[in-house]
Amino acid sequence: MTDYARLRDQMVDRQIARRGIRDPRVLAAMRTVPRECFVREGLKEAAYEDCALPIEQEQTISQPYIVAAMLEAAEIGPDARVLEVGAGSGYAAALLGQLAGRVFAIERHEALGRLAEERLAALGYANVEIRVGDGTKGLPPEAPFDAILVAAGAPAVPEALREQLKVSGHLIIPVGGPGRQRLCQITRENADRYTERDLGAVVFVPLIGEQGWRED
Ligand code: SAM
Repeated sequence: MTDYARLRDQMVDRQIARRGIRDPRVLAAMRTVPRECFVREGLKEAAYEDCALPIEQEQTISQPYIVAAMLEAAEIGPDARVLEVGAGSGYAAALLGQLAGRVFAIERHEALGRLAEERLAALGYANVEIRVGDGTKGLPPEAPFDAILVAAGAPAVPEALREQLKVSGHLIIPVGGPGRQRLCQITRENADRYTERDLGAVVFVPLIGEQGWRED
């Protein structure tokens, strides 16, 4: 077993399973995806610490525990069609690639999108597609989705994302001010009715776009 594989197992045991994540498919995916491939060269040694790390364009790769909690709350089946808003490094998109049938991940920074695409291709994730654009509008040509995960904090839930969710699907999104948000699980109960569950306090970079925060 390589040092990174050992660190990955320790991360899952100590920081994820021990803190209450139970879904065996999520735990298996976290044991499989090499997080060290999604962080900057000088930060690989820190890849399995339970914290967000800086990536290019002043963005972050999210904390592993929070990513695992979002994946578990999204209840993703093997044939699911999933949208991620905020692809960043591509790490969560790779985890989604392990769990779902088809994954679309949108990133607003072209440079990040291209890097994520290269990493995912190098690791062989043929079921994950990176798109560059404003994810607050969703991805209408590929909708509807069984699950939508938003990896940036929104001032309110974008209407476009609600509309692109399948009935029984979950939208996982941090909602609140720039410094602190509540992680919400929104479930589409039927064509017009949605229910909401609060999953706790989180801190994400802002979701910037037409149905998010303004750039300035
Ligand atoms: N999921 C990522 C990972 O695994 O590395 C972490 C994402 S980082 C916390 C949030 C990302 O959301 C940033 O890369 C940021 O550029 C992106 N973002 C913010 N607003 C966006 C929008 N409207 N559409 C697409 N991406 C957006």
